[in-house]
Amino acid sequence: MKITAVKTYLMQVGSRPTTTSASQGGAAQDGAGRDSAGLGADADFRGSRNWLFVKIFTDEGITGVGECSGWPRVIETAVKDYASILVGEEAGDIDRLWHRLYVASMGHGILGTVGGGALTGIEMALWDIKGKALGQPVWNLLGGRFRDRIRVYGHAKTPERARDLMARGYTGVKVGFTGAVDIDCVAAVREAVGPDVDVMVDAHGPSWMTPQDAIIVGRAMEPLDLLFYEDPVAPESLDALARVRDAVDIPLAAGERVSTIWGIRPYIERDLVDVIQPDTGRAGGITQMRKMAAMAEGHFITMAPHSGSLGPVAEFAALHVMATIPNALMLERVEFDWPGRYEVVEPVLKVVDGHLPVPTAPGLGVDIVEEEVARYPSRRNVADMPPEDGWAYETGTVSENVYFQTRLKRRAKLRRTDG
Ligand SMILES: [Mg+2]
Repeated sequence: MKITAVKTYLMQVGSRPTTTSASQGGAAQDGAGRDSAGLGADADFRGSRNWLFVKIFTDEGITGVGECSGWPRVIETAVKDYASILVGEEAGDIDRLWHRLYVASMGHGILGTVGGGALTGIEMALWDIKGKALGQPVWNLLGGRFRDRIRVYGHAKTPERARDLMARGYTGVKVGFTGAVDIDCVAAVREAVGPDVDVMVDAHGPSWMTPQDAIIVGRAMEPLDLLFYEDPVAPESLDALARVRDAVDIPLAAGERVSTIWGIRPYIERDLVDVIQPDTGRAGGITQMRKMAAMAEGHFITMAPHSGSLGPVAEFAALHVMATIPNALMLERVEFDWPGRYEVVEPVLKVVDGHLPVPTAPGLGVDIVEEEVARYPSRRNVADMPPEDGWAYETGTVSENVYFQTRLKRRAKLRRTDG
């Protein structure tokens, strides 16, 4: 079965205004790239995310779908470059083709998440093709299942939101911050959900805390019984992560911003974390994720794939991977970010009792709805945040150091005020 074509489907997440004027006005843009129909209503369009889906076509009429994250607008070009190598190749030789593409881009340097994203979507689509050709779900080609449903966790920053998640069946909740962790906020969520729910904290950045502050915060959160403390410091310095590791008695999680086994390797080999968090759209593909899981298993490290900026195709791939590995912890789920999430694919997955079902249809068990994807044309793909959010690099203020914050005016937030 030969590959005959590779196509890309790039879309803006949240680009279609939901206002009445917008629905009447179409999607014409003015010279500034703003939607004359009301896209300027950035309430709808604050987000800068794009989703990129890939379809691979074969001479037997079987197609496969995949998803790429990392920097989707740039990755689209990378995928088109790769297509010249893929067309005419044997679709079933997934690992060989992955390595051929990897080597083909050596001249670009180490690939990072952009190259990783391109490889990921292509590899995912090839697995979809193989599963369809053999009439088997992908998990059954990877050794079979440990489980037929995958536990998921949601996001909340208020007790109300956390209780709402619990009412929907969730049993895990993550509290995320940009900038300093608000320990009182974490404590309030813990109090709201009670002792039996898993609570996690994502320090996320930017701005990132210094290692010293991450340690102070981590120690203050030790009584809150967290499942993990994610990205306490900037990912550029694993030595900083090691300092937190040595000083804080909470399991640590990291790894969403790296791709391939070589990106995740130091986190595992140095035992810097208890949980690795590869992003299913840019980690390098289904096989790369399984290899990461195996490396982690040797160190008694679990895997909880990142899903923060991902679309719904990659979620299916994550379910197949997590079904087949012994050390699957939980899958991140951004459920309520944008309704379009549930319009651009079929079928739509629903959380039941805090779990997603592992798909059983041949291949990945999902396809994109091309007409829906086409309704959200890509416009921008960088997150330049407004100054009022403190992202201004404004000289003489606390936001002068946006990426890497010293404690300056944040001292008060470094300790609990109510406990
Ligand atoms: Mg994160």
